[in-house]
Amino acid sequence: MAMILDGKKVGNDIDLETQKKVEDLKGKGIEPRLAIIRMGEKPDDIYYEKSAIQRSEKLGIRTKSMIIGEDATQAEAEEAMKSCSDDAAVHGILMLRPMGRHIDEEAVIKHLNPCKDIDGITPDSLGGVFLGKRECFAPCTPEACMRLLAYYDIKLLSKNVVVIGRSLVVGKPLVMMLLAKHATVTICHTRTADLAGVCRKADILVAAAGKAKLVTEDFVSNGQTVIDVGINTDENGRLVGDVDYAAVERKALRITPVPGGVGSVTTSVLLNNVVNAAINISGIA
Ligand code: NAD
Repeated sequence: MAMILDGKKVGNDIDLETQKKVEDLKGKGIEPRLAIIRMGEKPDDIYYEKSAIQRSEKLGIRTKSMIIGEDATQAEAEEAMKSCSDDAAVHGILMLRPMGRHIDEEAVIKHLNPCKDIDGITPDSLGGVFLGKRECFAPCTPEACMRLLAYYDIKLLSKNVVVIGRSLVVGKPLVMMLLAKHATVTICHTRTADLAGVCRKADILVAAAGKAKLVTEDFVSNGQTVIDVGINTDENGRLVGDVDYAAVERKALRITPVPGGVGSVTTSVLLNNVVNAAINISGIA
């Protein structure tokens, strides 16, 4: 039976650090604030927004919801972003995506001040990850994977890490962050030949494909650490990852559950970024 890597513990640890920084900032007259930009009334977006607001309030971070209609124009979407970017009381901006099919998100993101880009979606932030510079924020999910590995003191130096998924949100930036820690990294995708065989060679396997039960027992070798980034719903409407948990946990050395794994760390990283953005913007060391 694999050891469970508990994302809630890691998230709580980050939250404590965030809370302390919030208190310090408030002592200096600064109230860290997160702005959330939502387009339309999609239930998933509303759920995510509500939970981000609740978590923020718990940590003492203020929030501002910027809601635009689902039929808002490109100009209105860009104006919403510009007004949050220009608002001196806002330190971090979360844009719920996808916006609408008729919206050119890249054009909206051009109005996002990189200092307030707490989700690492601007070219500046992504460039920072690829260049190994840490002035900007990395995308929260790969950062959450790194924080989880560090919390459990899982060594990366000279280890073979296989990442399934090459998106800009998870796979690609994660590969760069792992390389910075001297891991030997292989990135897999839908056209990888012998996916299971490649995965079996890993010391650490990260699944970020968005496909329930993609990672079966056959992908895993003894002694492997399995990090499941996937968030999917199964045929019974339950939240599941990309890993066939019941089968894989019998073989792996360590495993993250879904829920309660990487996802639990991601929101904590996002809110930690808001506070760090407030510190950077206000020039308080
Ligand atoms: P995406 O669809 O943009 O990218 C998926 C990647 O996986 C692609 O590069 C694709 O080539 C690869 N892939 C898909 N099916 C595959 C297969 N059968 N074999 C090999 N490779 C395959 O998705 P994304 O935005 O990167 O998200 C990936 C997953 O992570 C989703 O389930 C998403 O919900 C989840 N996610 C979780 C968090 C979190 O906080 N835990 C945050 C963001 C995304």
